[in-house]
Amino acid sequence: MTQHHARVAVIGSGIAGASVAFGLASRDVSVMIFDDAMAGQATAASAGIIAPWVSTSDGDYYETYAAGGNFYPQLLEQLRDLGIPELGYRQSGALVVNRDPDTLAEAAGRIRERVSAAGPVAGEVHDLDSANLAEIFPPIAPDMTGLFITGGGRVDGRTLRDAILTGARAHGARFVADAARTITAGSGTNGTGPWSVGTTSAMEDFDAVVVAGGARSQEILDRLGHTVSITPQRGQLIHLSLRGVNTSPWPTVHPLDHHYITPFDGGRVVIGATREDGVGFDVRTTAAGQKQVLDDALRIAPGLAEATIFETRVGVRPMSTRAGGLPYAGAVPGTTGLWLASGFGAGGLTMGPLIGDGLARAILGQPAPEIAHLGL
Ligand SMILES: Cc1cc2nc3c(=O)[nH]c(=O)nc-3n(C[C@H](O)[C@H](O)[C@H](O)COP(=O)(O)OP(=O)(O)OC[C@H]3O[C@@H](n4cnc5c(N)ncnc54)[C@H](O)[C@@H]3O)c2cc1C
Repeated sequence: MTQHHARVAVIGSGIAGASVAFGLASRDVSVMIFDDAMAGQATAASAGIIAPWVSTSDGDYYETYAAGGNFYPQLLEQLRDLGIPELGYRQSGALVVNRDPDTLAEAAGRIRERVSAAGPVAGEVHDLDSANLAEIFPPIAPDMTGLFITGGGRVDGRTLRDAILTGARAHGARFVADAARTITAGSGTNGTGPWSVGTTSAMEDFDAVVVAGGARSQEILDRLGHTVSITPQRGQLIHLSLRGVNTSPWPTVHPLDHHYITPFDGGRVVIGATREDGVGFDVRTTAAGQKQVLDDALRIAPGLAEATIFETRVGVRPMSTRAGGLPYAGAVPGTTGLWLASGFGAGGLTMGPLIGDGLARAILGQPAPEIAHLGL
């Protein structure tokens, strides 16, 4: 597809849809973004950790995750160049902690290699004893040792998503706050485009459609007769408040398990998250889920015990269940102009901007080597 006069519909405005839309709009494509704001958007709930080097994932998933981390400075610069002041991002470091020195030593080898391979964006790794730990993260339990990765970052998913959408709008993208109820292949309603997208009130024609519907992407493609393997996974988090404490410089905390702590500005500290399979799109917070989140956090950071619980959030991760949990980014086979960007799993806030930019180029027929292995 050539960019001149091309019209593309993007279904979904989480990090996947926002990033593809931004990548297309900034290359002169006419973009219309659809989002129905259904509860459970993963991007809006996410914990905001941008430190792929501490994760236990491996293989192609890790390579994409790490490449996503490397892409962040470029994304932030692009948005700043557009004059968007608030990006919600801060590089406050990542702290890997454990009670067992052997477990920590084993992880340290892997993390040092990854940080070194990632280059300047990941920064440096420092060993910390319990006194050092308490200096940079005061609520920590006294019997921990750790590693500090200086390049670790954290981002408010809602703020960044909105900044990327603002960037897309600045390049002419339009936003429709409604569900894409019908997506029809074949001649458009006016005989113009090969695709039509219908909402409750209108039908528009497009040259291409990008499905970026998060955990609902599979359902959308099912209706169009195409099979992918994306399943919902519920994640519950708790936002704590520490009044009068300057939490801005605190790093994210990773106890080498699935749970973590992400401090933000203004005394806000996010703890989480559950990984609940088999509950579909049930976006309730549950007693068991909240207990697990609190137990995990207070075991490593008992100093948070007196914090105020001021918010809970629930998001539904789009988990790819194909080999290696590899995300999807590419053309839907057997179609012309139907594309998918989804299945980013637990690292989507990190890899979404990179994948979105790559897919935008692929749609325009340009080389996109960073997503070549993510095809359907
Ligand atoms: C609790 C939790 C913590 C996380 N923490 C991190 C983290 O620390 N770091 C990290 O890198 N990643 C994290 N993630 C993962 C990351 O948030 C997700 O991988 C990513 O946000 C997925 O983005 P998405 O755009 O694919 O989906 P979503 O953000 O879910 O967006 C999909 C959008 O599509 C819309 N939609 C669907 N169907 C339609 C339709 N027919 N018409 C219109 N709109 C439609 C939905 O309403 C939704 O707004 C976390 C996820 C969760 C749940």
